[in-house]
Amino acid sequence: MILLESLVMDVSWILDDLNDPQRAAVTAPLGPLRVLAGAGSGKTRVLTRRIAWLLAVENASPWSILAVTFTNKAAAEMRSRVEAMLDQPLGGLWVGTFHGIAHRLLRQHWQEARLPRAFQILDSDDQTRLLKRVLRDLNVDEKKWPPLAAAGFINRCKDEMQRPANVLDDGTPAQRQNQRIYATYQQECERSGLVDFGELLLRAYELWRDHPNLLTHYQERFQHVLVDEFQDTNTIQYQWVRLLSGNPCDVFIVGDDDQCVYGWRGSKVENIQKFSDDFPGAQTIRLEQNYRSTGVILKAANALIANNTGRLGKNLWTNAGDGDPVQIYAAFNETDEARFVVERIRQWVETGGQRRETAILYRSNAQSRIFEEILVGAAMPYRIYGGLRFFERAEIKDALAYLRLVANRDDDPSFERVVNTPPRGIGGRTLDLLRDTARAESCSLWQATSRLLGGKALSSRAAHAVRRFLDLVEALDRDSQDQPLPERVSHVIAYSGLQTMYAEDKADKGEMRAENLDELINVSARFIAHCDPVITGADPAEPDWLNTFLAHAALESGERQAGAGEDCVQLMTLHMAKGLEFSLVFLVGWEEGLFPHNRSAAQERQLEEERRLAYVGITRARQRVYLCHAEQRRWYGKETQQNPSRFVREVPEALTQDVRARVNAKLRPKAPPALSPAAAMAAGGLQLRQRVHHAKFGEGVVLAIEGEGYHTRAQIHFPAAGGPKWLVVAYTKLDRL
Ligand code: ATP
Ligand code: MG
Repeated sequence: MILLESLVMDVSWILDDLNDPQRAAVTAPLGPLRVLAGAGSGKTRVLTRRIAWLLAVENASPWSILAVTFTNKAAAEMRSRVEAMLDQPLGGLWVGTFHGIAHRLLRQHWQEARLPRAFQILDSDDQTRLLKRVLRDLNVDEKKWPPLAAAGFINRCKDEMQRPANVLDDGTPAQRQNQRIYATYQQECERSGLVDFGELLLRAYELWRDHPNLLTHYQERFQHVLVDEFQDTNTIQYQWVRLLSGNPCDVFIVGDDDQCVYGWRGSKVENIQKFSDDFPGAQTIRLEQNYRSTGVILKAANALIANNTGRLGKNLWTNAGDGDPVQIYAAFNETDEARFVVERIRQWVETGGQRRETAILYRSNAQSRIFEEILVGAAMPYRIYGGLRFFERAEIKDALAYLRLVANRDDDPSFERVVNTPPRGIGGRTLDLLRDTARAESCSLWQATSRLLGGKALSSRAAHAVRRFLDLVEALDRDSQDQPLPERVSHVIAYSGLQTMYAEDKADKGEMRAENLDELINVSARFIAHCDPVITGADPAEPDWLNTFLAHAALESGERQAGAGEDCVQLMTLHMAKGLEFSLVFLVGWEEGLFPHNRSAAQERQLEEERRLAYVGITRARQRVYLCHAEQRRWYGKETQQNPSRFVREVPEALTQDVRARVNAKLRPKAPPALSPAAAMAAGGLQLRQRVHHAKFGEGVVLAIEGEGYHTRAQIHFPAAGGPKWLVVAYTKLDRL
């Protein structure tokens, strides 16, 4: 009896704050079980409690449990929750991502996996670099066969568990070519002991498949397998789970078909659907109550996702009151958007809120730049998750390396970085010779090269190639010397060949990198506009903009970001935000072309994935959501007019509230630039009901004017362009009629 009582007490701390279906899931008899439920319904909570249940009630040892999460952050959180519940460290418990777990297995069984003990992981950048070399060795023209496309092919094959030998020969030359590249690339990886991301999973799968005794060992060890975010597993991950779960198996998976957002990376929402076929006797439990968000947020998310077809369908409700309407903010431009967001966060903090409870979520990494800038200006600690910080990205480092060489020919790391980027036929042997000479003569690589060009040590081909490089840098310097900084940056990016190189990389990354390069031009323009001579050390009388800017870039790449434990604003892409929650969520850049992304808007299937991403975004919020869009944005290096995203319209108007612009002088890091004479004229001269003409929107009537000086904006009704628009007067050319 005493035993039973203590058991009941034990169990109550696991089950007390769960609803009935949640409790049913946590306490289900061992065996395959699937929890299918919408955002914020407690799937992750249930999975965590299930682990506690297994340990405390089923007497499972921590060793026998394997839990898979989607990010390392989520894994760390899950472990600490369980440890806190049981009040003890659980060293034997394996919690991690698929990649992390596969890596761990391969480290432990490197011999069986036929890997060198010190095998290294190839990140996607390294992978592309290696593929470039492979393409060159195979005499494949990089222009016709972009390395990123080859990488895409290889990664897809690995996700589908295909080795070069079993790539399906569909008879097309393209497929044969791809297969040949894959085979050579793979040989190269084996020879150098390199393992790419896809290889981690495939190797770990093959390790078990080919070593039945090892597999049995792990099947016996991991009696309990739990997987969060199951809707985003791909083929190899799914098969890996199947292989591991022996018979009988206790597999516990949770997921939401409406949150499948990695289709572009091979994840298959069908996996969660076919689970019940592949795991006989599987039970399904649905959770319908949402505990995260207010009624309004939930209704907004439900209405938006209802536009998708082929859903499993769910009925998600909440007990919470309606709460605040979804706040919609139409910004003048991207700077205004960022200032608005930071100002709202400041107010939140002033009234006792924590910074870590606020998140700025964007579609593409390039958008983070302006937020970093404004956050730094407002001295507000922040942290960017995932993705490299702007000045650390490879393409930005490439561009900066050229600029540094323009500023200082003797900058050896920059020389090394770009001497053969874009490729100009300078091989490893030539580089070694340059390095040896520089070392022997204690001079810079640049000087060594110049000296070697005077002698006979270099072959005529190599001499030609390095001379081209030296001439290029000299020309970049000479031709841009008299230009203002942004033009100079733009010139160097264009004429170094970087722009073309990245723009012609056909896969996702190339486009993104080209966008980032354009953003560097914008950054330099803003840098000059807001440069504070005291901070940057520029001589106000005659600033050396190039060097001041380069110093700024170098300093900023190392610091400023808050440390892990600090209370700071959270910045990440929508993809990274899956599974997380925050009191205040700012969804920024909800503009057609940006979100849904240009690429995805045309295809229904991709558009639906974008919409699921929007659904993920909205459902991250507990208390309040802001949907922000800018009317003008510096994008692809130029100022463009933007339309609000269709996803803004898909949120019922009754649930939303428009936020009026309020310019807060305190927030501005520096004084705004003085109004240009033309802008002052334009702002001063506009009157209510005045008729105007705009080059793109045609004739219109001024309905409202607000703001002041540089920030003056006018609402103008343009019948031909579909109604009223807010325009920033200083940026807009309007003819008065
Ligand atoms: P997502 O789909 O976004 O991953 P989820 O289904 O995993 O969401 P959780 O993150 O587990 O949902 O839970 C959402 C929030 O609701 C969390 O703050 C969690 O603590 C809380 N919650 C879940 N169930 C309950 C409950 N029965 N009582 C009170 N709060 C709960
Ligand atoms: Mg979750």
